[in-house]
Parts: sequence; C-alpha cells; structure tokens
Amino acid sequence: MTDILSMTYEKLLDLVTTDLSEKRFRADQIFTWLHQRRVKSFDEMTDLSKPLRDRLSKEAFITYPKIIKKLSSKLDGTIKYLFEMADGERIESVLMRYKTGLSVCLSSEAGCPMGCRFCASAQNGKSRDLTPGEILSQLYSIEDDIGERVSHAVLMGTGEPLDNYENVISFLHIVSDKRGQDMSLRNVTLSTCGIAPNIKRLAGEGLPITLALSLHSPIQSEREKIMPIAKVYPLTDVMEACRYYFEKTKRRVTLEYSLMKGVNDRDVDVEALKKITKDFPCHVNLIPVNPVREASFKAPGHSEVLDFRKKVEKCGINVTIRRELGRDIEGSCGQLRNAPAKNNERKS
Ligand code: SAH
Repeated sequence: MTDILSMTYEKLLDLVTTDLSEKRFRADQIFTWLHQRRVKSFDEMTDLSKPLRDRLSKEAFITYPKIIKKLSSKLDGTIKYLFEMADGERIESVLMRYKTGLSVCLSSEAGCPMGCRFCASAQNGKSRDLTPGEILSQLYSIEDDIGERVSHAVLMGTGEPLDNYENVISFLHIVSDKRGQDMSLRNVTLSTCGIAPNIKRLAGEGLPITLALSLHSPIQSEREKIMPIAKVYPLTDVMEACRYYFEKTKRRVTLEYSLMKGVNDRDVDVEALKKITKDFPCHVNLIPVNPVREASFKAPGHSEVLDFRKKVEKCGINVTIRRELGRDIEGSCGQLRNAPAKNNERKS
C-alpha cells in the first residue's frame, strides 16, 4: 500500500503517469484534493472517474493522526496536542500564536535517539522515524481542529530532523508546494542538535529555511556532558558546518541556548561563545531551561538571565530571550508523550 500523503508532487506524478497510466493532470487533481481540500478518502475526489478512485483506494491510503489529548493555554492561546499514529505511536505537536501568524511545532521522529540530558523527549530513545505524511498531517490535523490557516512551522518537537533526513526533506517539498499548503520556506525553521555532515548536505538542498543549532554550550568538554552527540560531531565540526550553511544559503543561523544554572551561564561561557561566533552572522536565542522530571537542571533566575543576555550583547552578539508560551500548560516537548497513558493531564 502506498502512503500517498508522503509523496512529493514529482513522486505522485510518476505514480499517476507510470503505474496508473493516467494523464498528468490527474496528479494535479489528486495533489490538490490531498493537500488543499484535505479529503480523508479517495471517494471524495469527485472529479476522478469511479474506476480510478477504486484503484487508488486499493493501492494507496490516506491517514491522519488521532487527537488523544489537547491542552489549551488560557494565557496566550497555545495548544499542545498529543496525537496517536496508525500503529499506536504517540507524538506531540504545539500550536503557537504570534503577531506574525500561527506557528506549529512539529515532531520529526517518534521518540529521539540523541539522548540530550536535559530533554524529556530523549528519555526513552527513538521508536521510529516519522514519514513525510506523518510530519505533515500534524499540521493538517491542527488546521482542521482550529479552522485556521497556519503560516509558520518549526521542526522543534520530538526527534532529530537531521536523523530522519530524507523524510524531512520530502516534508519540506510537500509543505511548500504551490498546489498544496504553499507555506513559505522562509517561515520554516529546522532545529538540530548538530549532525555536521547533514547540516552541510542541507545547505545544498536549495531550501530557504532557517537553520537553528542547539548549541547549549560553547565549550566542547561541557557540551559533551549534556549532549552525547557532541562526542560524535565536535563543536569545531558543527560550527564549521554552520558557517558553511551561511555561506551557501546566506541565511543567518540561530544558535539555541537553553540556560542551565551553573552549567552554561558563567563568564567563561560568554567568553567561549564570543570566540566561536567570531565573524559569524548568527543569532543567539536564550531559553531558560524547562526543568523536566527526569533531570536535575535548573534555570537561572530572571535577573540572571537578563544579566547573561547583557554580557552576550556586550560581545557584539545578536541575542534574544525566547518568549515563553503556554506557561499554564507547562512542560517542554516530550512531557505529554512520556506521561503514563491514564494520567497524562498532570505532568512533573
Ligand atoms: N533534535 C532537535 C530538535 C528538537 S528539540 C534539536 O536538538 O535541536 C528543540 C529544542 O528544544 C532544542 O534546542 C532542544 O535542545 C531544546 N530543549 C529540549 N529540552 C529542553 C528543555 N528541557 N528546556 C529547554 N529547551 C529544551
């Protein structure tokens, strides 16, 4: 059976003209039904002949995830979703409201193999990759649920997008296709823990997305302690790949920096940050670490966060503190998914 939501327009065109021996325009019709009108069955594709619809139903499937849980913030309209996929795997997505439009935080894998010590998603490892259709249908389900159009997406949910490279690239092609969602790739951010070779590979895809690197520490020996992947791809390689990404795409890279008290908020960290970002047009995004049940990291107090920002600014680095959304529905990504099935309303 063919997972039709996972097919880029080019793949669908090939299926339609080669396997189904139909005219090219049929591919356009099917793609529009799937990605603009969002039908859930081939029978609803009323401008296709009945025999073609029957053939498609036999050979392909359309699946959307089930909403298992939904937590809405009364403060800022953020909504966290817990979805269940066809095989029972659960993933999380978040809808956020900004002045610039609605944005979704999407998961790229069920679980995550990267093992970052401070991250809830890493606690149980990875179950499997998500297909392009499963990444996309988080967005489609959210749009269905709220009846509004989403203009921005961040691949910052559970999983490491550059560990599921091909599927993420296909997702990017489908989501930005003019015949479908037509999302501007300038409105899409991909966040990675730093898989250096794939950062370079991504630079060559010609996709104008924003790259965000989860830096979290500018000191190799410290970074290794909180992010095991740093042992495989050391900071020098990762920063070199980020510089390459900038040179190739001319898109400024974001460095995410989750502030952890006593771990990465010291003066030596500011100094090291200055050194590794020298002559590199980047943007540092500070996020007070979100304490997860399983780890003992603490966020510095508000005034210490402001203080750290000031010191970073003084080095001539472009820096912001990320606005916290959904405070009343608490927790960073992964915490809903990890909660026991019967009691997942209360976390931490
Ligand atoms: N695997 C990718 C994307 C998923 S995580 C990556 O590592 O970038 C999205 C962001 O949230 C990353 O910057 C990650 O380091 C950060 N993050 C994870 N757990 C966090 C926590 N408890 N508090 C603050 N940020 C966290």
